[in-house]
Amino acid sequence: MIADPGTARVTPAAHAGGWAGFDACSFPQYIPRPFMNAKPHVAIVGATGAVGIEMLKTLEKRNFPVGKLTLLASARSVGKKLTFRGQPVAVAELTKDSFKGVDIALFSAGGAISRDFAPIAVKAGCVVIDNSSVFRMDESVPLVVPEINASDIRLHKGIIANPNCTTAITLMALYPLHKAFHVKRIFASSYQAVSGTGAKAIQELKRQVEQIVAGEPVTKEVYPHQIAFNVLPQVDVFLPNGYTKEEAKMENEGRKIMHHPAFRASVTCVRVPVYRAHSVAVSAEFEKPVTVETAREVLKKAPGLDVVDNPDKKEYPLPLYASDKYNCQVGRLRKDSAFDNGLCFWVAGDQLLKGAALNAVQIAEELMK
Ligand code: NAP
Repeated sequence: MIADPGTARVTPAAHAGGWAGFDACSFPQYIPRPFMNAKPHVAIVGATGAVGIEMLKTLEKRNFPVGKLTLLASARSVGKKLTFRGQPVAVAELTKDSFKGVDIALFSAGGAISRDFAPIAVKAGCVVIDNSSVFRMDESVPLVVPEINASDIRLHKGIIANPNCTTAITLMALYPLHKAFHVKRIFASSYQAVSGTGAKAIQELKRQVEQIVAGEPVTKEVYPHQIAFNVLPQVDVFLPNGYTKEEAKMENEGRKIMHHPAFRASVTCVRVPVYRAHSVAVSAEFEKPVTVETAREVLKKAPGLDVVDNPDKKEYPLPLYASDKYNCQVGRLRKDSAFDNGLCFWVAGDQLLKGAALNAVQIAEELMK
C-alpha cells in the first residue's frame, strides 16, 4: 500500500471550496480507504469499444503500473483476445462477480452498464473511473479534468467521473483563459467526429462513403440521417428548452469542473463526417480585458495544450492532425468583434483520448500519487 489513510485524509474544509455550486458538506468526514497497490489490478469495462481499445493502448503507452488486467465486455465478445504489452488477453463477460480483487475499474460501456455495475464495483472495493454521463452531476462524485481540478479526486467516495468529451476539449483552452481573465459566458459550435458515438458509427461513415462511391443506396443504422457528405445539427436527445443534452453539458459540467457556478454557455453541437477528434469554435466573453497577445502567452503555458496559430502559413488546428495526440490544439485566436472583452478561438482534440481514455488514465495516475 502506498497511501497512508491517516495522512491522505481530506475534509471539505481542506479542499479549496469544493466545487463551487456543489455542496462540499456532502463529503462528511470522508476518509479515503487505504489505497492502493503499487501495481494495481485494473479492469476495463467495455474493453472492445472505441474508448475501451484506447484505454488499453493508453495504459500501455503511459507505462501505467498495471499489476493485473481484466478485460470485460458483453457476452458477444467472449472469446475475443486483445493485446497488452505484447501478450494476448482474453475478454470476459461482465458479471456481478467481475470485480473481486480489482483496484481500479475504467468504465466505458454506456450509461446503463455504469448505473448497474459501478455501485457493485465500488462495493467490491475498487475505485471506478466512469466515462458515462450517469454520475457526472452527482454531488458526491468528483468530475475531473486533471489539468484543471485534480484536487477534487481526493474527495471521491468510490466513483470519479470523466467529463463529456466536447466539454473537456473546450475547457483545455478555456480554463487557462478563465484563470487569467475570468470567463463570463461563451457561445460555441462543435464539429464532432463519428467515433464519439462509438465503434458502430465509425463503420456507418465508412459504409455510407463506400455506398455513395459505388452508386448504391445509403443505409442508416446509427444516425437518423445520412452522415457521409452531410452535417447533423443534433448530438444526443433534445431537451424541452430546444437545446440537446450534449449542448447542456458544456454549461453544467463546465461550472462543476471550473468551480464557476455563474459560467454560461450557449452551444450548438454538430456531428460531422470526420472519423476522429472533435473541434469547437468558441466566442468567449471575459470580465477582464483580453488581447490576442496576452491570451497567446497564457495558452502557450497551459498544460496539455499546443498553440497552432499561424494564419499566414495556413496553420491552425485540424481534427486530422489532432487525432492520436494527447495534447489538444488551439488556434484562430482573434479579438471577438461582438464583445468588448471577447476572444474567439478554435480548439481541436482527440475525443477518444483527452475526451475519454487519456483523461481516465490521467485520473488513475493521480490516484497513484
Ligand atoms: P462503443 O464503441 O459502442 O463500445 C461499447 C462497449 O460497451 C463495448 O466494449 C461493448 O462490448 C460494451 N458493452 C455493451 N453492452 C454491454 C453489456 N451489456 N455488458 C458489457 N459490456 C457491454 O462505445 P464507446 O464510444 O466506446 O463509448 C463507451 C462509453 O464511453 C459511453 O458511455 C460513451 O458515452 C462514453 N464516451 C465515449 C466517448 C467517445 O468518444 N466515443 C467519449 C467520452 C465518453 P461488446 O463489444 O461486447 O458489445
